[in-house]
Amino acid sequence: MRRIIILFLLISVPAWLFAQKECAQDSRPIHGNYSTSGNYSNVGFNTSSIETTSTTTSSISTSSAISSVPLAPVLVVPAQIVVPVVVHILQSGSVAVSDAQVQAQLDALNRDFQAANADLVRVPDRFKQLVASCMIRFELARVDPAGKPTTGILRVKTGVTMFSMDDRIKYSSKGGDNAWPSAHYLNIWVGNMVGGIMGYSSMPGDHPSTDGVVLNHQVFGTLNKQGRYTLGRVAVHEIGHWLGLKHIWGDSYCGDDGIDDTPKQKGYNRGCPSGILNTCGDDPKGDMYMNYMDLTDDSCMYMFTLGQKAKMRSVFDVNGARNSLLAGLALQTDGDPIDPNWGQSDPSEIKPQPLQIFPVPASTVIRVEITDFEKFKQKKLFIYSLMGQQIMQVPIRGNQVIVPIGTLTPGQYLIKTDKAGQPVGKFVKM
Ligand SMILES: [Zn+2]
Repeated sequence: MRRIIILFLLISVPAWLFAQKECAQDSRPIHGNYSTSGNYSNVGFNTSSIETTSTTTSSISTSSAISSVPLAPVLVVPAQIVVPVVVHILQSGSVAVSDAQVQAQLDALNRDFQAANADLVRVPDRFKQLVASCMIRFELARVDPAGKPTTGILRVKTGVTMFSMDDRIKYSSKGGDNAWPSAHYLNIWVGNMVGGIMGYSSMPGDHPSTDGVVLNHQVFGTLNKQGRYTLGRVAVHEIGHWLGLKHIWGDSYCGDDGIDDTPKQKGYNRGCPSGILNTCGDDPKGDMYMNYMDLTDDSCMYMFTLGQKAKMRSVFDVNGARNSLLAGLALQTDGDPIDPNWGQSDPSEIKPQPLQIFPVPASTVIRVEITDFEKFKQKKLFIYSLMGQQIMQVPIRGNQVIVPIGTLTPGQYLIKTDKAGQPVGKFVKM
């Protein structure tokens, strides 16, 4: 099942007046089936300590006397993780992203994922002992999937003037650019996004064709930026999702993000809060609104916790979804192809979304097209808020369902059906 996280900024007029950073995650908050990762104690995750992993290769024999068949490499998580990155820039209209801007974004990632950000000193005393350096670095790829040299920056002209959250940006056949193999690259797509959507991300384990992070060019990088998202932290937040983190409020009312050391909070915070905000009652420390996985302004979020660090690093474990990145093949300029079959597969084979929603954004009604009505007969559409609260339900009586949304407050909403195992749609109410 596809899982999408979107980060959304309402910047229309007059909605410009209440510009906000929103981010939703589809099926997980609704089903509540996000795999939590147990106990994240502080042991072994001091920011200054050298880390080891609980997994070792000592039990793996490479003796040819036992077997002449090479064993698959077991990639142990190093203290410093390096993630190869390819940036796909979809050029249309005013979209122009310089190499310097790309590097500025990577610098911002490396600053924040290694706790080298100067504003870390602003973490209040009550949370200081939880601050983590995640020890994850991001580097532009040096070779493409065929083994040829690359800068890791791809510029693709497109006739699509605005992308939405439908993943078109990830397909060359739809005006976007195909993903490079996600086993070896973090794919970042940068383009002009509709309705001020700032970005969204896949989660570990998602389909390789859509695995990666999408960012609005307006908030990509740190050079010559204006507004509330100037420090490259939309990307930090989205890559937090890409590495398995949920929002700090667990995407439900006083929900659980699966991380032990992040306090519960009622929902997301916006802007730049101060003081102790105790929104869930029983934790005297209050909300950790300065966490990258809340939705506060870039200048007002500046920490990951030790528990979040453990979760993100766990996806690189031997059995983790991102383990193969540790091989660093995209950084090795030995000329060997990374993927001998590159270019031969057809990413468009991925099934179309059963729910297609128009228009995006919308103000009074949305039209939901059901691709395969027979499968959805007798079913209903359910509309959820970002918090996972059900707002309304509408029966499916044909392959088009009109949903009145005039009374909803502006923002991001999710749609799913009561047919099990189906992806979730999303729409923006202006
Ligand atoms: Zn988010």
